[in-house]
Amino acid sequence: MRFPWQLQWTLTKYIVGNALRGKKRYPLVLMLEPTHLCNLACEGCGKIREFESTIRDMLSVETCLKAVEDCGAPIVSICGGEPTIYPHLGELVDELLKRKKFLYICTNAIKLEKFLRQWKPSPYLTINISMDGLEPTHDLIRSRKGLYQIDIRMIKLAKSLGFRVVTNTTIYKETKLEEIEQLFSELAGIGVDGFLVTPGYEYTILKGRDIFLEKQQTHEKFEHIWEMSKRYRILSTPMYLRFLKGERDLKCSPWGGPNYNPQGWKGPCYLITDAHYKTYDELMARTDWETFENKRDPRCANCMMHSGFEHTVVREIGKSWKDLWEMLRWNLA
Ligand code: SF4
Repeated sequence: MRFPWQLQWTLTKYIVGNALRGKKRYPLVLMLEPTHLCNLACEGCGKIREFESTIRDMLSVETCLKAVEDCGAPIVSICGGEPTIYPHLGELVDELLKRKKFLYICTNAIKLEKFLRQWKPSPYLTINISMDGLEPTHDLIRSRKGLYQIDIRMIKLAKSLGFRVVTNTTIYKETKLEEIEQLFSELAGIGVDGFLVTPGYEYTILKGRDIFLEKQQTHEKFEHIWEMSKRYRILSTPMYLRFLKGERDLKCSPWGGPNYNPQGWKGPCYLITDAHYKTYDELMARTDWETFENKRDPRCANCMMHSGFEHTVVREIGKSWKDLWEMLRWNLA
């Protein structure tokens, strides 16, 4: 199975429960950013630039837990910034595991070792390490020599201790897919449990940098990744991959992955910041979801990012037996 059965069972109950209650918009993954502080300054990262003036702000553990409770998503992705430099990460993870939330710790792994020695492996805990290419490319994108070797060492350590480890690879204009295939082959060889692949996020603040894919380029790159998904355990759903390679269209579901950070609930989505709201209810009530679902905002033009469109898969899946069957086969593979 592609995901732990506990996660699949919880998600199924949650989705069916919401459908029975007639709820149209509900969160699946809370993107929780306790701090935007980071120990790297990567070329394609919009976060450290967008939040430059407030980068030292941090959420308390209590505030994080309240956000998790208010939104109710079964999955919490702890990202940032770099979560391992958040001073209360250990306590936050313990508290969320007690609440049976499925956690993804999205990290560059530089400071991961201490936590790997503290935490116990659990189907509720996944370590998600970003890997953007083989050694020269990865170190260049991250502007840190030696990082690739640190990451490989951390993956090996995490696997030897029994953790579930996935990697996250961002595809930019210059990304060479032969290199990504070689990377996946190396990572699969050291036991990585799955690969998340996503087109580079064109944050508004980074507009004008010639590194992000336009739609047609995304289609071409992901045609190749579709083929790779037959050889490697890529975690993106087949429906989302078909969307990325231009075979079908999907609406966006930005409410599926709300983002909470020291400034509040960021709306409307991970990419666009029109406002920060004090409460989750305010975010839901005051965002014009119709516009963003239908990609009517000009800033949505090139966007195909997973936090908007993977959640749409949940809405679409029950509409066709063919999709359902493909999803089932994919999940069990
Ligand atoms: S398509 Fe969705 S995720 Fe992308 S920018 Fe628009 S609202 Fe945000």
